[in-house]
Amino acid sequence: MEFRDNPQEHAFREEVRDWLQTNRPKDRRPGDEDIAAQMGFDRAWQRRQYDGGWAGISWPKQHGGRGLTPIEQLIWSEEYASADCPLVHDSVWMALNHAGHTIIHCGTDAQKAFHLPRILKGEATWCQGFSEPNAGSDMLALRTRGEVDGTHLVVNGQKTWTTFAHLADYCELIVRTGEPGGRHKGLTWVIGDMHATGVTVRPMVALDGHLHNSECFFDDVRIPLDQIVGEIDEGWSVVLKTLEFERGGAAFSGFCQLAVHLEQLIAEARKPGATGTAMDDPVFANRLAMARARVQSLRALIYMMVEAAERDVELGAEGAILHLPYSELEQEIYQLAVDIAGPRGLVRQGGPAIGWHSLWLKSLSATIAGGTSEIQRNTIGERLLGLPRSR
Ligand SMILES: Cc1cc2nc3c(=O)[nH]c(=O)nc-3n(C[C@H](O)[C@H](O)[C@H](O)COP(=O)(O)OP(=O)(O)OC[C@H]3O[C@@H](n4cnc5c(N)ncnc54)[C@H](O)[C@@H]3O)c2cc1C
Repeated sequence: MEFRDNPQEHAFREEVRDWLQTNRPKDRRPGDEDIAAQMGFDRAWQRRQYDGGWAGISWPKQHGGRGLTPIEQLIWSEEYASADCPLVHDSVWMALNHAGHTIIHCGTDAQKAFHLPRILKGEATWCQGFSEPNAGSDMLALRTRGEVDGTHLVVNGQKTWTTFAHLADYCELIVRTGEPGGRHKGLTWVIGDMHATGVTVRPMVALDGHLHNSECFFDDVRIPLDQIVGEIDEGWSVVLKTLEFERGGAAFSGFCQLAVHLEQLIAEARKPGATGTAMDDPVFANRLAMARARVQSLRALIYMMVEAAERDVELGAEGAILHLPYSELEQEIYQLAVDIAGPRGLVRQGGPAIGWHSLWLKSLSATIAGGTSEIQRNTIGERLLGLPRSR
């Protein structure tokens, strides 16, 4: 494996760096206290990337994307993070990295023609309606029903933890159209219009006092059958596609920002305060060193995964190997940041634009959202190590 750029990669890196330096937003992204303004900012930034030809970097060119290779996507993510661009997990992320990819691979021509340009231009916000009150880790226990009635699917049920639902235009909605209790058989992936009659969104207040997630209720919501992605009753294979993209290259961009944040934290720890530097404290110095070592080992893992992707080697359960240590490392780094800041760490000060405090609070859910650490460990144990299935 070669860690240095070859001449073409070097030239590409320079091109990305130049574009980001000139075009990255100079204003601070609005905070979580004004999430509507934040969404406007995210959409405008996405539009600028679209106008510059950098929207949908991993999307094929025939669908309006940039069609970058896995290595080029990684270079983009590294430069994006180094240029201190806005957080990658913004209100456009779900549309670009989940819905768009799923529609490209499983959608109809009409769905592609309608949705893909809107996603690329940042004109539509999407949410993910997978989890339900008694179907989180065990998503196959989901009970939201879809009944065919003429040319429509009539949906009744509840989703929960739905990120950005209160702002979303569309939902990646998974409903049971087959026998109740049918597990992976009889599921359907359908594009839900969040503005349709019968959709009620009840936002939940998060730890930081702001609204990120919602409970969503669907009461006799009529969705045209042409909004089904893939085949009716065959939605599980579409779900797997959706998750494949979430755990693939899209995960690298978050890692690159985490790595840059750690370097910012190390620089802050070297600044002298009233009683010396945080780095003078051997416990902090040791924790920072360990965090940097873990970042480097994850970087090596990512390079290995990118290299496999360049050779078209499909990675399946291997995604859990990245998600598990990455989510735990995220918590460790932001916990370290608030520990170093001391009482200042409990107020919104210091660190990257969003502040260490907010990053720390957000990180607490990293080992739950997108699959808990226990489930990731089960996946690694069962699918990679061949251990017996957990019950
Ligand atoms: C901030 C945040 C954002 C989210 N955004 C979305 C979203 O946009 N869309 C969406 O659909 N969902 C979203 N989720 C939901 C998320 O996917 C679920 O919370 C997650 O899958 C866990 O499900 P659960 O909360 O029902 O917990 P449960 O599945 O009830 O798990 C409870 C505990 O039991 C453990 N456990 C469960 N089963 C096993 C097992 N077999 N072996 C060992 N331990 C087990 C879990 O690890 C956990 O500790 C979000 C969650 C959070 C916290």
